[in-house]
Amino acid sequence: MSARPIADEIKKHADLLLQWRRYLHQHPELSFKEFDTARYIVEQIEAMNLPVTITRPTPTSIVVHLVGASDGPTILLRADIDALPIQEDTDLAFKSAKDGIMHACGHDAHTAILLGVLNIVGQNAEQLKGTIRFVFQAAEEVGGGARELIRTGLLEGVDQAYAIHVSPSIPTGQYGVGYGSLMAAGEAFDVEIWGSGGHAAKPEEANDPINVAIQAITAAKQLLERKTDPLNPKLMSVTYFNAGKNNNVISDRANFGGTLRTLDVDLLQEVKSHLVQTLKHVTALYGADFRIRFETDGLPPGEPPSLALFNHDETTRIAASAIAKNLGKERITTVKPSLTGEDFAFISAIVPSTMVFVGVRNEALDAVYPLHHPKFRIDEAALEYGVAYFLSLLEELTVLERHAEV
Ligand SMILES: [Zn+2]
Ligand SMILES: [Zn+2]
Repeated sequence: MSARPIADEIKKHADLLLQWRRYLHQHPELSFKEFDTARYIVEQIEAMNLPVTITRPTPTSIVVHLVGASDGPTILLRADIDALPIQEDTDLAFKSAKDGIMHACGHDAHTAILLGVLNIVGQNAEQLKGTIRFVFQAAEEVGGGARELIRTGLLEGVDQAYAIHVSPSIPTGQYGVGYGSLMAAGEAFDVEIWGSGGHAAKPEEANDPINVAIQAITAAKQLLERKTDPLNPKLMSVTYFNAGKNNNVISDRANFGGTLRTLDVDLLQEVKSHLVQTLKHVTALYGADFRIRFETDGLPPGEPPSLALFNHDETTRIAASAIAKNLGKERITTVKPSLTGEDFAFISAIVPSTMVFVGVRNEALDAVYPLHHPKFRIDEAALEYGVAYFLSLLEELTVLERHAEV
């Protein structure tokens, strides 16, 4: 703990924060299918009896508008609400009640934290200057949730946007802050290669798509390494490969796929084109055919295919200063860019935005596993730190007077 205690206001919410987070953890839902989650969130907000307008611009996202007593900026605060297709492997009393679905990315915590912030700020609406748009966003994990909301006009009139993500590599009580491109632009891809199969002992009569696929994967990785700027990170991970079923028959097709990641959108386009070129040349060499499908194929014209999360200077300075002033500057950890993805990127591409990382690591509680791991768990003390951050931020933005007091 730093010199400053967490505000009484937040302490009063400690039980509710746990209750919300644990309910959500036990009842996870996959992207775009968060119907019960959305219903639960709306019920909780209605029970708060706040002067807010609750809207449902998409089937499973919720946007809550809180208008202050006087004029001021419009600030967007965003939590994501979806879970992952992972079988939970923890012994928590409130572990997932759904087979094969788990909140393994902490979105249950993000949602509980934002509910807590909404409740505290909503009860003090008379002190609020401007408008706060609380966004409970569906479908972050598969991408598309932010995109879908932006199409409904989510960002119209928004001056700044903020979000958090829990981080199991940062100890509880610390906040990770970084500037610029912090997370990757990504693109999932699926490839099918086909040609003639045949007798295992007569490869000269077949195209051997398995061999072609292996050559293509190796060549594509080599090409990425040799034909792009080595100082600009890029990654190609092949995460599945399916082909054949007999020992003595050469398969007539092979399927594989994975993801491409960069910190730079233009480089991502270059990387995609290198993969396509490699497939063209390698399949031609062996006389096989191929098809490649990218995740963003078929997007409406004018929509960006994929974007890197970008923490703007102005908003990040405000976030860092809010933490330093109200919570203690010793709580700030500098974070480095990573090639994981985050669809808050689509918001950060349109309005000045910042995502701060809230530490949830605690060895004593076994809260040490990475995001998306079946044993992932958080130190729930971080829930209060998440709320404290948002309240400090609103105070720093001077839209909320002296309420954070943390
Ligand atoms: Zn995730
Ligand atoms: Zn996440």
